[in-house]
Amino acid sequence: MVKIYMYGVSEQERPIVKEWQALTNAEVYMDTDILEADTVERCKGYDGVSTYQYKKVDLSVYETLKSYGIRNIAQRMAGYDPYDLDLATQNGIIITNVPDYSPESIAEYTVAQALNGIRNLYQIHERVAKHNFSETLDMRGRRLGRLTVAIIGTGRIGRSVAQMFHYGFGSTILGYDVYQNEEAKAYLTYVDTIDEIVSKADIISLHLPAMDETFHIFNKEMLSKCKKNAVLVNAGRGVLIDTEALLDALDEGHLGFAALDTYEGEFDYVKHDYSNKKIKDETLVRLLNNDKVSYTPHIAYYTDESVENMVHRALQSTLEIIDHNDSKYRVN
Ligand code: NAD
Repeated sequence: MVKIYMYGVSEQERPIVKEWQALTNAEVYMDTDILEADTVERCKGYDGVSTYQYKKVDLSVYETLKSYGIRNIAQRMAGYDPYDLDLATQNGIIITNVPDYSPESIAEYTVAQALNGIRNLYQIHERVAKHNFSETLDMRGRRLGRLTVAIIGTGRIGRSVAQMFHYGFGSTILGYDVYQNEEAKAYLTYVDTIDEIVSKADIISLHLPAMDETFHIFNKEMLSKCKKNAVLVNAGRGVLIDTEALLDALDEGHLGFAALDTYEGEFDYVKHDYSNKKIKDETLVRLLNNDKVSYTPHIAYYTDESVENMVHRALQSTLEIIDHNDSKYRVN
């Protein structure tokens, strides 16, 4: 029987792993600790390794795994920054990730937040919390079927968002990407520049990666081109937006509403409980106090399907490497 050592296991993963084991007849040992120089010896005698971790893997780990005859590390998420890919390759270790665990989960979050903005739900909830049940013009929503949605970055997630808006609500979809996707032309029209797409859109949805070319692509100038009642959703990467410029644009009425699942200064805060701690980041404080912003801590991905797929695909990649020394999810 194949034996897999699983590091960084959370409670929510345990039942999923047990189900997978029953289907495959593999034996999986679940450890809550992550893979480090101090914990690597625990996987001696196993055939493959999987982990879920943000922390850099100690450089000595690759050689130790090699000495145990282990040929893989399956990261149960998309990001693989913790790994030294060259050193892994030198030691015959194949690193795999799970890049496409559920584009639909992020897309559904995006649609939910766009509706939140278009129907003024956030402000309505705040008013109702104060027992104000009156109907005023600022509560009037707009119907999605009459609106234009701009998808900036028509990759896996962007295309899923486009389909939901087009087929689900009848919205008009404009797309912008450095590479146009032929299949996407069935439900969206590509536009040549971001400026053009931004000036026409009622909802702007960002799905670009973080790169030098995309850093603060939504700066003061770009934000000034948005429609005054436009809704901006960023479930891509925080650095796509100059957050101070966005807050100014909202204050000055250049934009209607922003829903941010990613924030450029999120790293010290996301996944931590600050309910009894002071937030020192003044931009974050400003953002949290703005009633035209709905902020969520990088949880667009977080659904039952995503967690299941991360576990299943990482364990499946481990089996593939044990059996054939290759996997479609290898990154080195
Ligand atoms: P993807 O690689 O499938 O799509 C990205 C698209 O951006 C590609 O089509 C690419 O051609 C395009 N692109 C790259 N550089 C560009 C540029 N300079 N100008 C225009 N287009 C450009 O990626 P994806 O899986 O759809 O992910 C999109 C974003 O969502 C990523 O930033 C990813 O990190 C983020 N994400 C967020 C969450 C979350 O929970 N909030 C979860 C997963 C992914």
